[in-house]
Amino acid sequence: MDHFDKTKRAVKTKLLPWFAANKRSMPWRTNRSPYRVWISELMLQQTRVDQATPYFHRFMKRFPSLKSLAAASQEDVLKMWEGLGYYSRARNLHKAARLIVAERGGRFPNTAEEIIELPGVGSYTAAAIGSLAFNLDLAVLDGNVIRVLSRLFAYSKNSRSSAAKKELQRMADDLLVKGSAGDFNEAMMELGATVCLPRNPDCGACPLARVCAGLKSGAPTDFPMKAAKKKTPHIVVGAAVVTNRAGEVLIAQRRAEDMLGGLWEFPGGKVEPGESVEACVARELKEELGINVEVGDFLMTVKHAYSHFTMEMHVFFAKIKSGRPRPIECQDHQWRAISELRDVPYSKADLKIIDVLEKR
Ligand code: SF4
Repeated sequence: MDHFDKTKRAVKTKLLPWFAANKRSMPWRTNRSPYRVWISELMLQQTRVDQATPYFHRFMKRFPSLKSLAAASQEDVLKMWEGLGYYSRARNLHKAARLIVAERGGRFPNTAEEIIELPGVGSYTAAAIGSLAFNLDLAVLDGNVIRVLSRLFAYSKNSRSSAAKKELQRMADDLLVKGSAGDFNEAMMELGATVCLPRNPDCGACPLARVCAGLKSGAPTDFPMKAAKKKTPHIVVGAAVVTNRAGEVLIAQRRAEDMLGGLWEFPGGKVEPGESVEACVARELKEELGINVEVGDFLMTVKHAYSHFTMEMHVFFAKIKSGRPRPIECQDHQWRAISELRDVPYSKADLKIIDVLEKR
C-alpha cells in the first residue's frame, strides 16, 4: 500500500473517530439546517470561531429564518454584521436570501452547481454548505486544510500559487471519505485549528502522526511552503467630526459599490502626497459633501489593519463655514445626536470614534 492509500485509510480509521470524540461544541453544529450552515460558513470566513459565535447567536435571534432575512433592510443586516468586517459577505447574503425567496419559493438550493450560483458563494463555501447541509461528497480547502495536507504529504510547492491550490484540492477530493463528507471536512479543519497549529503542531496528540510525511521529515512547520509576502501598503486618512449648533454630528453613508459599502462613517479620505491632514479633511469634505469647513481641534488617531493594507486615521473636529451638505461622493448623509449615532452600522474604525465621543 503506498503512502497515499495508507493516509486515506488513517483518515477513515483514525481521524474520523478522533473527531467524533474531540469535536468542540459550536452553536451551528446543533439544529443543523442549510440556513444555519450558510450563515455560519460566511461568518467563519476570515473570522475566528470565538469571535463569530456571539454574532451567530445575535444574527439568528434577529433573523431566525431565511424569509426573515430576505424581508429585512440592508441597513438592518449590516447592523447585525457591524464589527465583523468584510461587509460584502453581509450584503451578499442579504441579496442571496432575497433571490432564494423570490425565485425558489424560499427553498435553499441543494446541488453544488446551484449553491455556487448564490451571490458571495465561492468554491469553499459551496463545498462546506453542500457537504454539511446536504451530505454531498465535496471536499473543502481552507487555510487549515491546506496546512494539514501540506504536512501530511510534505508538499513542497508554494501553497499560495493557484497551481498548488488545484493540486491540494485534488488531494482533498481523493482523501474524502465518501458518504461522510461533512465529518471529513470538519475533522480536517478541526485538526488544523486545534492540533496541527501553524507554529506549534501537537504531533504527539495527532491521530495522523503515523502517516505524516512532514513529521517524518523532522520539520513539520516547514510546510506549507510559502513565497514571501509582499509588503502591506499603509495609508493615512483624515476624517472629521463635523458638529452643528444643536450639537449634532454629520455622518455620511459609503457608496454601495465602494469598500465597506452601505456603512456609515465620519466623512474624510486619503491624505495625498505633500498634503497636511487638515488640508485633506477640508478637501475631502468639499468633494464628498460640497461643504467648506474650518478644521478645528485634533480628536484622536485610529489604527486599523484590513486584509490588504493598514490604515491610520487622524480625526479632527470641524465646523461648516459655508454650503449645505449634499451627497456627492457618498450615498447619503445625516445629522445625528451623539446618543443616536449607534442606530446605524459603521466599520470598526469609526466605532472607535463613537466610543470616544460618547465618553466626552
Ligand atoms: S503529525 Fe503533526 S504535522 Fe503531521 S498532521 Fe499531525 S499535527 Fe500536523
